[in-house]
Amino acid sequence: MVIILRFLFFIFILFSLFANTKPINFNLYKLNSNDIYNKPALLIISGIQGDEPGGFNATSILIKHYKIYDGNVWVVPNLNQHSILKNNRGIYGDMNRKFAELSEDDPEYEIIQNIKKIILDENVIKILHLHDGSGFYRETYINNLLNQNRWGNCSIIDQKTLFEQNDLNNSISKVVEYINRNLLDELHRYRVRDTNTAQGDKEQEKSLTYFATINKKMAFANEASKSLPLNQRVYYHLLAIEGMMKNMNIKFERNFNLDIKSIDKLIDEKDTNIVINDIIELPLHNIRPSINYFPIQKDNNFHSNTPIIWLFKDGEDYRIKHGNKNITRLKPFYTEFDYSLKNVNIIIDDNEVEIPIGTIVSVRNNFIIPSLNYRVNVIGYYKKNIDSEVNIKIKKDELMNKFSIDKDGKKYRIEFYKQEEEKEDKFAGMIIVDFTN
Ligand SMILES: [Zn+2]
Repeated sequence: MVIILRFLFFIFILFSLFANTKPINFNLYKLNSNDIYNKPALLIISGIQGDEPGGFNATSILIKHYKIYDGNVWVVPNLNQHSILKNNRGIYGDMNRKFAELSEDDPEYEIIQNIKKIILDENVIKILHLHDGSGFYRETYINNLLNQNRWGNCSIIDQKTLFEQNDLNNSISKVVEYINRNLLDELHRYRVRDTNTAQGDKEQEKSLTYFATINKKMAFANEASKSLPLNQRVYYHLLAIEGMMKNMNIKFERNFNLDIKSIDKLIDEKDTNIVINDIIELPLHNIRPSINYFPIQKDNNFHSNTPIIWLFKDGEDYRIKHGNKNITRLKPFYTEFDYSLKNVNIIIDDNEVEIPIGTIVSVRNNFIIPSLNYRVNVIGYYKKNIDSEVNIKIKKDELMNKFSIDKDGKKYRIEFYKQEEEKEDKFAGMIIVDFTN
């Protein structure tokens, strides 16, 4: 588990790559106001089932675009990261049935112990667990999609009372009222659902929220319907989160209007990046589905400005996903990495500027890389057989479209290599030139 402290909008996360066949531990983000002490925390969890993207897309937006200025919100966006990458409910079985008894041999045993510790943390007083459920819950049978056995669009408690008469029920009822004041369609109307777990619901007894409940934590689940498109599921989860924060007097701000159009932009955000080994920054918006000959080493680390971006090895290739959604596939060119190059002076549109290695730079018309002690390879430059592409004014139409990293032919890689006698060149970093504007 990696604990990430985030103040204001500063996000910097370091993940490490994992062995492909093992469960992956989750991340915990603490979205705190400056006054973080003596304020009870709301814990929000998503991604326990890998094929329920409404939840983890909502928490990713929460982490990136909300500011908490009074109170504590802790977020685990990716409880079941390995299943999220596989877009599978649970590749080691249903994780939400592992909170009562669990064998130490279970591959997810450690993850369960880690999340239990966070649930039981003395600062955590309320827990909101996000799911995407089928159909629409109704108290009585209306049709196949609307009935008592469906889970979509309801908010769930295991019992009505924990400390004081009806306290769980009152809390969740306020959240449901808040959601229902903002419905997109009457069909979506939320209900409170009490599973009465202690009255013999053997399945619910094994769930995360029931584990919390019997340990005297106020726990709730929110379900958005799988019948709804992703943007609407995210909308309802964000409403549930906001309703819960309002309940707890947690003061927050978001930097967007809560509507479907804005959510669409946030799910596929223009600034989404991934930084690999600190010397490559890839812009992920509109990236090609596959990139050839991509420099990579044996052990890699990465971070992103978007919590649910993940890099992992899959067979011969490396893949990047946004939650359970494919972003791109990197065909690896294995090389040793060299970290000696920090900045490069580049003449961009006739102005010389110092550009840090591992960044993206906007170019209007042309750029020139003055000679330096590293070999320079501008991927896609039409003139071949040049050892190092320095001291050449390179214009966009001299770059071959099919080598761009984006689908529109606007973003190109400049790669730097350290040369040493009698040795193979080492990769020393990348700068992306972006002709979008
Ligand atoms: Zn679920």
